[in-house]
Amino acid sequence: MSSVNYRNRNQPPSNRQLLILLGIFAAFTIGVIWLIGWIASSIVWLIPYSVEQQLGAVIVPVYERLAMPSPAQNTLNDLLDRLEAQLPSQRQNRDYKVLYIPKDTVNALAVPGDRIIIYSGLVKQAQSENELMMVLGHELGHFANRDHLRSLGRAVVVQIAIASIIGDIGSIGSIAVSGIETISNAQYSQSQESQADEVGLTLLQKTYGHVAGATDFFARMSQKQQLDIDFLATHPAPSRRVKEIQQLIKQRNYKVEQKQPLPSTLS
Ligand SMILES: [Zn+2]
Repeated sequence: MSSVNYRNRNQPPSNRQLLILLGIFAAFTIGVIWLIGWIASSIVWLIPYSVEQQLGAVIVPVYERLAMPSPAQNTLNDLLDRLEAQLPSQRQNRDYKVLYIPKDTVNALAVPGDRIIIYSGLVKQAQSENELMMVLGHELGHFANRDHLRSLGRAVVVQIAIASIIGDIGSIGSIAVSGIETISNAQYSQSQESQADEVGLTLLQKTYGHVAGATDFFARMSQKQQLDIDFLATHPAPSRRVKEIQQLIKQRNYKVEQKQPLPSTLS
């Protein structure tokens, strides 16, 4: 027996052995890539709120320069306040505000520093207060899931997390600057969108006692896919989202009642 083994060891490896080795190597590589992805998406939860505020100090002024203090912006903030009042109490000590930017872009985004950017192009598409509330609630959902930090890009998030863990607070501003470019083009995944939709739907139900208008905006966007709408680039698959929201409404037995018209400052 031992002589057979000895001889086998000196033979060139068979194709089968090579395939097994290759398979192990491929599985290992996939595992490492998955692990890096997992660490990068989990590390975002280690960034403390104080660091988020520092990021905001760098990022928010960039959008404030574009924003227009106006009756429309005040109304949007009043709407946001009503949703905020329904947030779980541990999230209520945040200072969420809308920055209303007069630009035809059809989009909304959550940015570090507790700001929701709403472009006038999006408001022009809205036809009821309820659907606008769903969009605002959806953006609050991105904060709840920390997508607003992920939108800085994986590399930037990892750098910020490391800087905050080792207490290198001074470098956070300059790291944030390198992430500003990516924020407005950040693409969210289907599951990030679904989670944000769920938060939005829950807030809509708590605010009105029903969920009329929840799918209106996304349904309208799915009809307009031929247009160049930023919302569709950063928020994928509106028709699939409409189906998912409708399923949730059914599962939870939410009622659908009368919609509220848009406030006059927004119509
Ligand atoms: Zn979104």
